[in-house]
Amino acid sequence: MVFWRVHKKKRRNYSPPFAGSRKKATRRPQAVILWIALVPMLLAYMHLPSAWPILSTMLDPGHGGIDPGAVGRGGLQEKTITLDIAAKVAALLEQQGVTAHMTRTSDSRLAGSQSNDLRARVEFTTRQGADLLVSIHVNSFHLRSVRGPRTYYQPGSEQGQKLAQFIQDRLREACGCGLKQPVAEDHFLTRETLVPAVIVEVGYISNEEEERLLSQDSYRSLLAEAITQGILDYIAAAS
Ligand SMILES: [Zn+2]
Repeated sequence: MVFWRVHKKKRRNYSPPFAGSRKKATRRPQAVILWIALVPMLLAYMHLPSAWPILSTMLDPGHGGIDPGAVGRGGLQEKTITLDIAAKVAALLEQQGVTAHMTRTSDSRLAGSQSNDLRARVEFTTRQGADLLVSIHVNSFHLRSVRGPRTYYQPGSEQGQKLAQFIQDRLREACGCGLKQPVAEDHFLTRETLVPAVIVEVGYISNEEEERLLSQDSYRSLLAEAITQGILDYIAAAS
């Protein structure tokens, strides 16, 4: 309606040099209306994403197979927790229209030795053309009172730091514990990966309370939602 009114007002002062132009001018409103009707149809046909730009992520559940990672006093294994949380994050990202790959989807390693396994995770990330890597782990420490999530990035990586900060903020918000800042620390995975890469230690399996929480599906879902939200915050800030 607004388009039509503006056009009518303009036409009142318009004096075409010859009749052919006048004929064209009278057709313009119909053409505008036709385009207004066509644009949503075209967008729907092209399946354009509405919420986020397409961005491919790699989720890396730490350890697997003969390598259980850290083990809690109750027997809970890091490799089981990381696989479950990574799968939850992947599903949540896909729901938001963000492509999510996983370095492993079963209880297995990517290579025989630990060093080859890590190298294979880096190479797989590059091969899949992922735009960022989030490696999920569970911490362990001899002081059993230490608890809370920690996110690590490669020293000197500005984008890695940003991604780590967004994830750390969301994790801290979700569990009410953990550091305010992510940690800059040299790791093979974050150093060798070509795209922004972070390691998320979701909690301490050596802490009695956190081991109990990490054994619960609802707590792992809470952490997965926080990690997802952190990744989405990063994507929104980067776009
Ligand atoms: Zn680990």
